[in-house]
Amino acid sequence: MSQIKKIHTQLINKEISCTDLVQEKLNLLKENTHNTVNLLLETLALELAAKVDAKIANGEQIGLLEGIPFGIKDVYMVQGTYTTASSELLKNYKSSYTATAIQKLLDAGAIPLVKENCDSFGHGSSSENTIFGAVKNAINPELVGGGSSGGSAVNVAKDYTVFSIGGDTGGSIRQPAGYNNVYGLKPTYGRISRFGLMAYASSTDCVGPIAKSIEDIRIVLNVMSGKDVKDQTTYPSETISSEVILNTDDIKTVGYFKNFIENDAIDAQVKSDFLASLEKIKAKGIQVTALDFFESDTLVSTYYTLAMAETASNLSRLDGTNYGNRIEGDNLKDTYSITRSQNFSEETKRRIVGGNQVLSQGFSDEIYLKGLNLRDQIAANFEKDFNEVDIILSPVTPNTPPKIGDSLKDPLAMYLSDAYTVGFSLGQLPTLTIPKGTTTGLQITAAKTHDELVLKFANFLKDMI
Ligand code: GLN
Repeated sequence: MSQIKKIHTQLINKEISCTDLVQEKLNLLKENTHNTVNLLLETLALELAAKVDAKIANGEQIGLLEGIPFGIKDVYMVQGTYTTASSELLKNYKSSYTATAIQKLLDAGAIPLVKENCDSFGHGSSSENTIFGAVKNAINPELVGGGSSGGSAVNVAKDYTVFSIGGDTGGSIRQPAGYNNVYGLKPTYGRISRFGLMAYASSTDCVGPIAKSIEDIRIVLNVMSGKDVKDQTTYPSETISSEVILNTDDIKTVGYFKNFIENDAIDAQVKSDFLASLEKIKAKGIQVTALDFFESDTLVSTYYTLAMAETASNLSRLDGTNYGNRIEGDNLKDTYSITRSQNFSEETKRRIVGGNQVLSQGFSDEIYLKGLNLRDQIAANFEKDFNEVDIILSPVTPNTPPKIGDSLKDPLAMYLSDAYTVGFSLGQLPTLTIPKGTTTGLQITAAKTHDELVLKFANFLKDMI
């Protein structure tokens, strides 16, 4: 059921006012029960809501997204607001411009309520790597909210926002969506402009929606998509209609990776639920094919090698000169090092050190170039697979969400928990978490630019699993 369409109808029928709706959500967010809030955009939201109400009172038509309250992961620029990336370093940084994806939503009349808590610079899988306190899981607050877009997924799950915009470099939309039982889409790389998204690993960073229905994902995806002269990796895409994704006849074959499932690291319940889902799909006449894929360890190492290299490079500008809380030292070099040492978190420093290591002379051939080569092999493997199957189905995570505090003790275990999401990021493929099939959901993936197929298959599974 589309929350957006439901609220739209209530607004135009004057069953609710936009101001009341926005105020109600702001009140809930103010309590900050799950540490999801970095900043409330109260004044702006109420101003925009009043305009929508005035339009409706005047008998003017409003668009589908007009007056719909949403949340923004705190890594997107929104002009005049703080964009902290949940970091000490950018705690006082105010954006001077607005991200393209967010601007498109604002142009469509959606109302931004909140900048949402996340792992600092997207570094993490639990939303504990943040100066704003660990995000609590929407279903069980003793567990992590997932990450890095944890605040965004929890806000949607708790109905504090109607939808939220997360960012996904290696799973950061899909995994928290899975941990909190909502939908989360990482579109094909380049479908949505990254302009104004604080860069983590530019070669896999994607903008995407988190919502409570496939239809809402579709609506928000359409609005944000498109070529942008400010991001040369964007491509023009067609609008996906609601009718197109209802017709699921053209999906005939589904593949899954054998080694994801026949693996000691997978939770027994996740495994049996996943296999049961495959049986239900087979029973509907769809051919299910087991596929060979790279070992999880290879995927995780390749992803983290490249992600760390890229983030070390992207974050090098944050030295307290143009950006960041500057801490003065005895000389310029000291100033850089104190500013960066004291203002970056342990996890972020681990990645900067790791990234600079793999890029440095003497190591880059052995490690970084090997990582690039593996990424090409992974992408080629996907191309081959999609000659054989229409969709690849997988669990979202091998395990259920850990208790708050546990991941911090073991960074390597946290990296390995990304085993099922990072491969699809390296392949730049469209992939969607649906809150069905296993406790942390199912991940539906299609070939590059076939985002509509992913939504179709989600519709197919909707009433079946
Ligand atoms: N957990 C992964 C990481 O820490 C993915 C994060 C993300 O997609 N931003 O790199």
